[in-house]
Amino acid sequence: MQEFTKFPTKTGRRSLSRSISQSSTDSYSSAASYTDSSDDEVSPRDKQQTNSKGSSNFCVKNIKQAEFGRREIEIAEQDMSALISLRKRAQGEKPLAGAKIVGCTHITAQTAVLIETLCALGAQCRWSACNIYSTQNEVAAALAEAGVAVFAWKGESEDDFWWCIDRCVNMDGWQANMILDDGGDLTHWVYKKYPNVFKKIRGIVEESVTGVHRLYQLSKAGKLCVPAMNVNDSVTKQKFDNLYCCRESILDGLKRTTDVMFGGKQVVVCGYGEVGKGCCAALKALGAIVYITEIDPICALQACMDGFRVVKLSEVIRQVDVVITCTGNKNVVTREHLDRMKNSCIVCNMGHSNTEIDVTSLRTPELTWERVRSQVDHVIWPDGKRVVLLAEGRLLNLSCSTVPTFVLSITATTQALALIELYNAPEGRYKQDVYLLPKKMDEYVASLHLPSFDAHLTELTDDQAKYLGLNKNGPFKPNYYRY
Ligand code: NAD
Repeated sequence: MQEFTKFPTKTGRRSLSRSISQSSTDSYSSAASYTDSSDDEVSPRDKQQTNSKGSSNFCVKNIKQAEFGRREIEIAEQDMSALISLRKRAQGEKPLAGAKIVGCTHITAQTAVLIETLCALGAQCRWSACNIYSTQNEVAAALAEAGVAVFAWKGESEDDFWWCIDRCVNMDGWQANMILDDGGDLTHWVYKKYPNVFKKIRGIVEESVTGVHRLYQLSKAGKLCVPAMNVNDSVTKQKFDNLYCCRESILDGLKRTTDVMFGGKQVVVCGYGEVGKGCCAALKALGAIVYITEIDPICALQACMDGFRVVKLSEVIRQVDVVITCTGNKNVVTREHLDRMKNSCIVCNMGHSNTEIDVTSLRTPELTWERVRSQVDHVIWPDGKRVVLLAEGRLLNLSCSTVPTFVLSITATTQALALIELYNAPEGRYKQDVYLLPKKMDEYVASLHLPSFDAHLTELTDDQAKYLGLNKNGPFKPNYYRY
């Protein structure tokens, strides 16, 4: 409770100043909404809206956009076949029958596919947005039209944000028994306002690094009162978010902002972890000359084996055309480095938050900032040298590109299976602690995505299974295995 009471409380209803947790303004979503939040100045809270069945158990920007939102959901479904096959496989059986799920995630076409899958598997859902900017209004309308109690719109104020969460939790005659959270704000609200709700909750499924961190803190303090599943750290999701997603989106983010051609360009990537490996693979494939900086000899040796030159940043800073940070560390690119960069050098960050590049050091009187495009600043030195800073040092791909639907499909399938597992687990399997998704289910998430590629798995023979000491149906690797 104490950890959670540190959260700020309400401010004015129309307030746009944000003090809520960072995850509500800085986390994953896919494409922005096509519908403008300024198309109608009346707050959704002041509107009387009903869907075609006469229900007004929702609060969205404009229910009339439902048809448009439905098309968006159908497009997302095409790349989320794992969830669709989960619906089919469960036909007849309803593994979430009786589940009352209160959710707080981005409300996009991809999460709509998740929510509708949960409903198809027998759950009742009430949903709010974990981010005040990321809701696709037309998708929220489509969900409301389909009968989901959704309370979200793009451009909520802080007060709206908590009001929407409250409307999901606080409902006469309906009490949640499962929580699906992305960032920990919903869990926080229940702890703070409705602790009794936890008597009925069978489990929390948490998606984000921030939310998981808070759950571990609660657990450590002995204050976690239900089992929680950390889906953020499941192997499949991690690989997709960090390695494969960054491999796709680094080029997208750089191209959209700068139109740069990569062939022959000299690029330095700071950090050769999962994100760095993904970025480097994409850059190398386009013919860029890639240098790596690392502090860890194992990762440095891996970079050597993959054909990259491992250098200190100061050795190459004068010659490189692009600098990309992906370390999760702070002050990796300092003012000294920025001073020595050549004219037109592009600087961006793919790692945590905006700490990796010392952007604050560029806010000095002798330097001029020129906003040349959305998310692109030219920082100009007195001698006319320009450094091209992208997204003010925040995560490039989250700020300037989209996350592929397939990546979100992995996450959504992991969330669905975690909910099914926690909801159906026999008494005593999970205590009041934070768990990872069982390896077998992680493997199942991957297997549900294989048909998209017409990939054919080899089955172990009885003899082979015995030889390796494995069950023919998995799990195929021990928990300590590194993929
Ligand atoms: P990781 O731990 O696998 O890799 C980080 C690497 O940076 C490590 O190998 C570490 O040794 C190295 N490093 C640390 N300090 C360094 C320094 N001063 N100079 C050079 N190298 C240094 O982590 P990861 O999974 O690759 O994630 C990296 C960051 O990216 C994290 O902050 C993570 O939250 C973030 N992330 C971003 C995205 C995205 O979409 N942009 C996705 C996932 C994770």
